[in-house]
Amino acid sequence: MWLKREQISVNYVSPKRIRFRDGILKKNTQQPLRVVQVSDSHLFASTEGRLLGLNTEDSLRLVLEKVQREQTHIDVILATGDIAQDASEAAYTRFQQHLAQFNVPNYWLQGNHDVTQPILNTLNDKTHLSPCVIHQDGWQIIMLNSSVEHEVPGNFAPNELQFLQQALSASTRSHVMVCLHHHPIPMDCAWLDNQVVANAEAFWQIIDQFSHIKAIIWGHVHQESDRLRKGVRLMSVPSTCVQFKPLSDDFAIDDLSPGYRWLDLYANGDIVTQVSRVEGVKFVVDWSVRGY
Ligand SMILES: [Zn+2]
Repeated sequence: MWLKREQISVNYVSPKRIRFRDGILKKNTQQPLRVVQVSDSHLFASTEGRLLGLNTEDSLRLVLEKVQREQTHIDVILATGDIAQDASEAAYTRFQQHLAQFNVPNYWLQGNHDVTQPILNTLNDKTHLSPCVIHQDGWQIIMLNSSVEHEVPGNFAPNELQFLQQALSASTRSHVMVCLHHHPIPMDCAWLDNQVVANAEAFWQIIDQFSHIKAIIWGHVHQESDRLRKGVRLMSVPSTCVQFKPLSDDFAIDDLSPGYRWLDLYANGDIVTQVSRVEGVKFVVDWSVRGY
């Protein structure tokens, strides 16, 4: 899909893309892998479903419209959990239909609200669910399941950690990005920090054995963050629906808009990334709710 010039936001056009006079975008050899991360859509079986007063179907649609407007080229879309609020096949089917408009591969991992079997019953390509690995252009993207079904806090099953160890050992000639749902480090939000991956120490013991990991990204916390730990970028992403307030001890909704993250992964291991949020839309949220 080609966008009209006025629809292209200058901030989101990679400088590595060359625009010729005939309007055709041509890749040059430095073109990075363009990844789009969408997370925590919390869809329901019904399109009228609301999370904390916000219609999650509508907000996902608005975020994906923004992706369509901003991204002239996408290589892969990653969905980092809490795809459905009610783990219904109807919600997973609709999510898949929403992503189909982009006509690019998409890979999913489970959040605490998701259940694996209904996802497998509906997902066209079952190999696109975590644990899985995406190999492309000198990069390896590892998708892990940090969720325990029907429980809120994260915890890696032994086979997930084994998968991580093996994938990292087999990929030392690539750059690596690891994706999960829960935060593997505290977010400085006391109420959310009770939900950090319980066996995060075992996760970090594996990560610290390798020097080719460039980034670790997650969802769950419904807020943007970007830190550095031993040379590895650690990033969370806004939800496509309700936002949670950073640096809050108690549950608190933020008034920021829903959004997504794009990442450009370069052949030399560099990463350029930005969060983009829906603009010009007033979202209705029930501020009286004290938890979710
Ligand atoms: Zn969530």
